[in-house]
Amino acid sequence: MKKQFSNSIQMLGYIYEASKFRIFFAVINAILQSVNPVLIIIIIQQSITMLMSGDENSLYSLGFFLLICVAINAVIIIYGGWYRLIYGVHSDFKIKKSIQQKVYLKIQSIDISAFDDPQFYSVYTRAVNETSSRAINVLSTFTNLLRSILTFIGVIYILISLDAVIIAFVVISIVLSILLNGFQNKISYKYDREQTKNIREQEYVGRLFYLSQYAKDIKFFNLYGYFTDKFRHSIDNQDTVRKKYDKKLTLVDILQNAVQVLTVLATIFYLGWKFVIGSIVIADFATLLNASQELGGTIQQIFMFLPQTANNSMYIDDLNEFLNYKSTIEKDGGITPLPGRHVIEAKRLQFRYSSTSPLVLDKIDLCINPGEKIAIVGRNGSGKTTLIKILLRLYDPTSGIVEMDGKDYREYDVRSLRRRIGVVFQDFSCYASSVADNVLLRSVKSEKDEQTVVNSLKLCGLYEKVSALKNGIYTVLTKEFDEDGVIFSGGEMQKLAIARMFANDYDIIIMDEPSSALDPIAEYELNSKIIEAAANKTLIIVSHRLSTTKDADKIIYMENGRIEEMGTHKSLIELNGKYAELFNIQASKYYG
Ligand code: ADP
Repeated sequence: MKKQFSNSIQMLGYIYEASKFRIFFAVINAILQSVNPVLIIIIIQQSITMLMSGDENSLYSLGFFLLICVAINAVIIIYGGWYRLIYGVHSDFKIKKSIQQKVYLKIQSIDISAFDDPQFYSVYTRAVNETSSRAINVLSTFTNLLRSILTFIGVIYILISLDAVIIAFVVISIVLSILLNGFQNKISYKYDREQTKNIREQEYVGRLFYLSQYAKDIKFFNLYGYFTDKFRHSIDNQDTVRKKYDKKLTLVDILQNAVQVLTVLATIFYLGWKFVIGSIVIADFATLLNASQELGGTIQQIFMFLPQTANNSMYIDDLNEFLNYKSTIEKDGGITPLPGRHVIEAKRLQFRYSSTSPLVLDKIDLCINPGEKIAIVGRNGSGKTTLIKILLRLYDPTSGIVEMDGKDYREYDVRSLRRRIGVVFQDFSCYASSVADNVLLRSVKSEKDEQTVVNSLKLCGLYEKVSALKNGIYTVLTKEFDEDGVIFSGGEMQKLAIARMFANDYDIIIMDEPSSALDPIAEYELNSKIIEAAANKTLIIVSHRLSTTKDADKIIYMENGRIEEMGTHKSLIELNGKYAELFNIQASKYYG
């Protein structure tokens, strides 16, 4: 409980940080809102008393009294409206911005290996998606409690001053409601669990029908009937599960309503009896009936506080686990490598993705000299991409060491280290931003930037296409946010990713299957340009198309996580080993 409270206080702290007066105005709102139910009870009581008094001025007194009440009510309504619809909305945005920024800032320092851990990954997604709305939830949980307690005090005061026995009726009805609620929650939980698979199946089909990535296949193979059947099947299954729980859920619902109706009836009966024996007047009758109804709702609200706090707390635990994540790689500090030529060396490198998975790299010894053109080749799954990821310090070796200019990678500031290395991943990403931003990987700030973009696009052979577009280099990629957006082919996207290598001043350029989406002529042309542009730089190309890489200064042939052969194309062919075998198979396929 203590932890749940401290979690909530932590969230209130975040709210205070983001929007200084939010809590204050929320508390005022809760206080004002708590007055309303009590005011209504008093209006009914006073109205009947005044009208029954027989006084000839009673109508005027009533009018005056109601005017005062309307004035109070107007203040409450106007303040409530301002708080909810004007102040609250803007404050929500501020809170969302501030907390989400905190989360996004932390994301930068999450090691990529954390994404391989499904448990952490789900904590992470919940933290990213839920946090800002949870903070606002925590605030309303507290203000609801405050409002309910204040109303409770007002209503209890009225009840005690008129007839405390009524409280017993309310308490009995609430105890019964809570018991029934517990029963209902148990059934609903079981029901939801059984239904989850069917609902997910239904949602999956829904996604297939609207996500553009599936549209081509589904249309071409005319899979509509197949998936509509699946959809129907999932709905039928939901119906079957529902039938299983129908009776129990209906029975509980009837009992819950019955408890409410019976409480009202018993209260009326009891109050009627008191009226008949003359111990209360008709105004008390109405007041007690109203107050007992209000008391029930208020107590239920107060009881909601603990489960709601517990629920909020679970999400805040996730957020804290996320915020307290200790990174080993993604942190600031260390040497900043200067721009220039660098020697990269891997010594006795071993790597596994997790303590339970097999070695993916083993006994890797490798020296990459400044300006060298290196090709890493080998079959799928031989560990090429993993080796690249380690050279980029996305992962640290399990054992062994990677050095730059004789110093352990870990001695460098990781972000400065990566600023020296450009990479085009096999599964590179292009973003729904302008072509120019996609090339620079930041916003265009000057004419010089524009020129850099144009030159880079020219070098990778994409400029002709881009310059013909209505908005030129400022054309947005994809049509997701802009009707004039452009959709590039796979090959064009790859060229765009490669343009980044020309636009930024990297010392080492790494390309993982850089031209797999290009035809052989385009591939040849682009490779020549890359080699030309990277004349003074170190270039590492990963490929399983060996014709691409035969001019490299050094070819590294990998198999099962090991470097099996290393040398120039000529020396490896002469060696007549595994590289030569793979090269000959590919050459025979290519040339007939
Ligand atoms: P290549 O680039 O030569 O095709 P990879 O380096 O991608 O090979 O993969 C080498 C091995 O590592 C494969 O067996 C692959 O399944 C495994 N692997 C790759 N990424 C991960 C990961 N994130 N978690 C666990 N295993 C992985």
